[in-house]
Amino acid sequence: MLLWNLYFLIKFGLHFAGQLTISPLWNLGLFALLIATNPAAYQNKQLMKVLRYLVFTGPAIALLLHELGLVVSLALVDQIKALFGFSPDYLWELLKRTIQPWMLWGALLGFMIVRVLDRYIRISSWVGFGLVCILGIQALPFIQEQTQTNNTATVLEPQIQARENLSPAELLALGQVDFQKLRVARDQESQTKLRDNAYEGAGPGAVLAGFFERQRTIALAPFAPQASPDFDVIVLQICSLSWADLQYAKQSQHPAIRQADFVFENFNSATSYSGPAAIRLLRGKCGQTPHDALYSPANNSCMLFEQLRNVGFEVEMGLNHDGRFQDFSKLVKTNLGGRATELVAHDEVPAGVQAFDGSRVGRDGDYLRAWWNKRVQQSGPAVAYYYNSITLHDGNRLPNSNLNSLNSYPLRLERMLNDIQSVLGEIRRSERKALVVVVPEHGAGLTGEFGQLVGLRELPTPAITKVPVFGYWIAPGYTPANTGPVAVKQSVSYTALSELLVRWLAQTSDQQIKPSWPVLLSDLPATRLVSQQGNITVMESQGSYWIKAPGAAWKILGPVQTMAASN
Ligand SMILES: [Zn+2]
Repeated sequence: MLLWNLYFLIKFGLHFAGQLTISPLWNLGLFALLIATNPAAYQNKQLMKVLRYLVFTGPAIALLLHELGLVVSLALVDQIKALFGFSPDYLWELLKRTIQPWMLWGALLGFMIVRVLDRYIRISSWVGFGLVCILGIQALPFIQEQTQTNNTATVLEPQIQARENLSPAELLALGQVDFQKLRVARDQESQTKLRDNAYEGAGPGAVLAGFFERQRTIALAPFAPQASPDFDVIVLQICSLSWADLQYAKQSQHPAIRQADFVFENFNSATSYSGPAAIRLLRGKCGQTPHDALYSPANNSCMLFEQLRNVGFEVEMGLNHDGRFQDFSKLVKTNLGGRATELVAHDEVPAGVQAFDGSRVGRDGDYLRAWWNKRVQQSGPAVAYYYNSITLHDGNRLPNSNLNSLNSYPLRLERMLNDIQSVLGEIRRSERKALVVVVPEHGAGLTGEFGQLVGLRELPTPAITKVPVFGYWIAPGYTPANTGPVAVKQSVSYTALSELLVRWLAQTSDQQIKPSWPVLLSDLPATRLVSQQGNITVMESQGSYWIKAPGAAWKILGPVQTMAASN
């Protein structure tokens, strides 16, 4: 019973430290079963002991994870399956991140103390007593409420649990002082503040249903160019880069971002995985669809590149990796409309990093330059190019370097941003026209968060899905403003990007030489932050971020805040 008592005692400690909320009934149930199967009462004590561990260890761990607020989902099983494709180096790094030395020392010390105490007092009785007390404390307010008043109907959904811990990533992104200011401001906000949705106030479940209902009806205008286009549209989709990661790596002031023409400060990638991110971007000409709908065929009018093809663009694609992981290459091709020329193979250029699964990844600068050199030799006046990079993916390492993946992230990021800048220079020197947009797939989760380990992305939290989207117009005779990028502050997603393209294409050539960015970027379709990964949803509503896992109630993740690039 020694280890089992330790299990309960550690949970008491965590409960009173505010790290988890004990579910007394479940624990009492487990405790009673353990007492009933106490090996001392049976003939074959050793066998009983082993049997007891075999039967109860799994449920005990599941209960602990549940109480810690960790979401146990089927998506987690997928994650475990994916582990088999990882290189041994990356698996070792993940293990070291998960188990810290202090945990091992703490467990050892606890075990020794319980072992000594066990000789003098009956710890089991105290554990049982403790569980009953917690049950009593938790039931008390409920009983009081029942006896005082039960005639006020509440509009909020029941079982909503507030969470006090704030995401370190969000705190980090905003800085302590601004974060406090924002909290105070929010507390003072009046209850009657304008809502952007009629469902607001009816509980998060209704808000989410209303959101998808409204997104289904969004219909952007078709592309309608004034003349046949004479410029390229270059979309660079980057894996693993969020505003929080940018802050973490101290690169938010990198010239590649500071010198952009525009930047979306509150762009939601709506997912935390690569495949869904690519699908959402490539189908961005319609409103946001629920995660389940992503893998069924899309309406043609939703397909961004298919629509560009219809107005005279040739569609090309490029990946700086083999695209085999979770059939990514095929998925991209399908969502580009089935036909896309790939001018450069990922292994045609020098390797930039060693991938998390041991495969080869081409260096972004070399890859894009190789493509551009081939592109300028083509006769077509307009190419719509989709490029995907996994340089920043967790688990990747720089070749010939001792740095682990986490520590090499800032270097990998800086090099990628430098590479992008140098390719932009190349395009400028070629005297051609191009609209270049950088759209990260999702963040890397570098800061780790409540309920999520560093580098894992099971929960699509704002620290992971709020990504820096920025773009440039390159054309002979066009000089960007020296006042820095025009910032779009409202909460947007892929539809805003598609709408910007609609507006861009609708301009005359003369207008394109002197684009009015503030006009082009004003009143783009706003999108509430709703992010999904598998069956887990994170949503913004009433000034808070909420999370919903299957079988669990909505929980508050933390207060909403903006992550400005200027920090
Ligand atoms: Zn990705």
